Amino acid sequence: PQTVRWLFADQLGPHFLDDPHQRAVLVESTRVFARRTVHRRKAHLVLSAMRHRAAELGEQAVHVRAATYRQGLAQAAEQLTDEERAAGLSVSDPTSYAARRFVRSLSGRHDDDVERAGSSDLLPLRVLPARGWAVTQGEFAHWAGRRGEPGQKRLLMEDFYREVRRYHHLLLEGDGEPLGGQWNYDHDNREPAPRTGTLREVAGVPEPWWPREDDVDAQVREDLDRMARDEGVRFVGEDGPRRFAVTQREALHVLRDFLEHRLEAFGTYEDAMLADDRWMAHSFLSVPLNLGLVHPVEVVQRAEAHHREHGTRLASTEGFVRQVVGWREYVWHLYWHLGEDYGQRNELGATEPLPEWFADLDARGEVRAACLSDVLGTVREEGWAHHIPRLMVLGGYALARGWSPQEMTDWFQTRFVDGYAWVMAANVVGMSQHADGGVMATKPYWSGGAYIDKMSDYCGRCPYDPKKRLGEDACPFTGGYWAFTARHEGVLAKNPRTSRAVSGLHRLKDADAVVAQEADRGSHAP
Ligand code: SF4
Repeated sequence: PQTVRWLFADQLGPHFLDDPHQRAVLVESTRVFARRTVHRRKAHLVLSAMRHRAAELGEQAVHVRAATYRQGLAQAAEQLTDEERAAGLSVSDPTSYAARRFVRSLSGRHDDDVERAGSSDLLPLRVLPARGWAVTQGEFAHWAGRRGEPGQKRLLMEDFYREVRRYHHLLLEGDGEPLGGQWNYDHDNREPAPRTGTLREVAGVPEPWWPREDDVDAQVREDLDRMARDEGVRFVGEDGPRRFAVTQREALHVLRDFLEHRLEAFGTYEDAMLADDRWMAHSFLSVPLNLGLVHPVEVVQRAEAHHREHGTRLASTEGFVRQVVGWREYVWHLYWHLGEDYGQRNELGATEPLPEWFADLDARGEVRAACLSDVLGTVREEGWAHHIPRLMVLGGYALARGWSPQEMTDWFQTRFVDGYAWVMAANVVGMSQHADGGVMATKPYWSGGAYIDKMSDYCGRCPYDPKKRLGEDACPFTGGYWAFTARHEGVLAKNPRTSRAVSGLHRLKDADAVVAQEADRGSHAP
């Protein structure tokens, strides 16, 4: 007999069931939100997605709310038939180390668990391989193992991405060569921010399609109010009208809207930032993808089909495919490949705690730096910002100030609507904070105000001057750049990709004064 599928809140698409009629159990654990402060929009999306899925499945699903998953499973068991109870539960391997330990502890059926829960309450549980990825963990391990052989190169995202393209026959010519003759169109996708207006004005990119809220969302809002009021749960950020898809139907609508109206301009401006255009031409698919509502391979196949049918710009299409089945997929596999300890790495010895004005997203009026103020405001309002403000503005600021990479990882995981443990380990510890000694990137991603000035229109509206490193109006990114260089001179001098920054530092006559100024600035809001 078929097992009953236990679905976590990020396993909500049809591909998490073995067939469309399989019985399912969904457990809302109220303690999850009590444990740590999260953005209210994120809590809203998770609950809304889960409840929408339960409603879609109707009688096929047992949907319970309980303090803990264990109690929820016991409650769910009571609603199953004897036959279903005998067949037991199965679950696709969940997406964090903690959750995997937990499901294994349940599947082990230790005697004391049975006693505690009552033998009829705790069902047998089978843990299945993770679903919803372009390649399995076994396939990744095989690929990574080959790389580890003597004479092979280190792990490179680019190599992995090409394997995935070949494996799924994505954007290839009939003979297996990449479409257009190139695997990578990154160099065509680095346009700075347009100086003459928003993407609507310069490229005709319309306002994104937004989902319409329904009764489920209204109930979620009430429940979140109650949790905050009566149960001591602490949320940060504002919970305005829902922006992201919570059902597969909505997700496919968002995808269609992206392919038709945004993909063309997506690649060109994917690294640019505009103060009056927070959405640019981005896709809004990270949330439905990370909730498991749509399969990433289906998403990129649709993008390819759209390109072939409508001739959408190849560099944009390839850039999008690279984000979804290259970078996102790579980061997922590295989370497991690098091990749980990876998240604790801190090779640059950065131990400063996150200041409150940053952690709580509530620095209205306090932060004068235009870039940081705008991006923090966007995160407060939306629980989202695209990848460049995350990396260049938020991550760059923290790196320059020596903030703890673990606190930053936790912050990104809880303040962003698409934040999960597996997403943030390699992205924050590795890419953004360079705390892994160079596993993810050969050099730290740190830059002064000039680079932000090139890629955005922030500096023109800022009281600081991106060209100045010293004085009242010295840009905190430019000053921070030199302070970081001075602090890590030893490491940076040894790396041929960063040694020029150290020579540059030695040529500065005012280096000591800049370092002292930045030390004074410390973690105060700039
Ligand atoms: Fe940001 Fe510096 Fe530009 Fe101001 S001058 S917007 S702080 S980079």
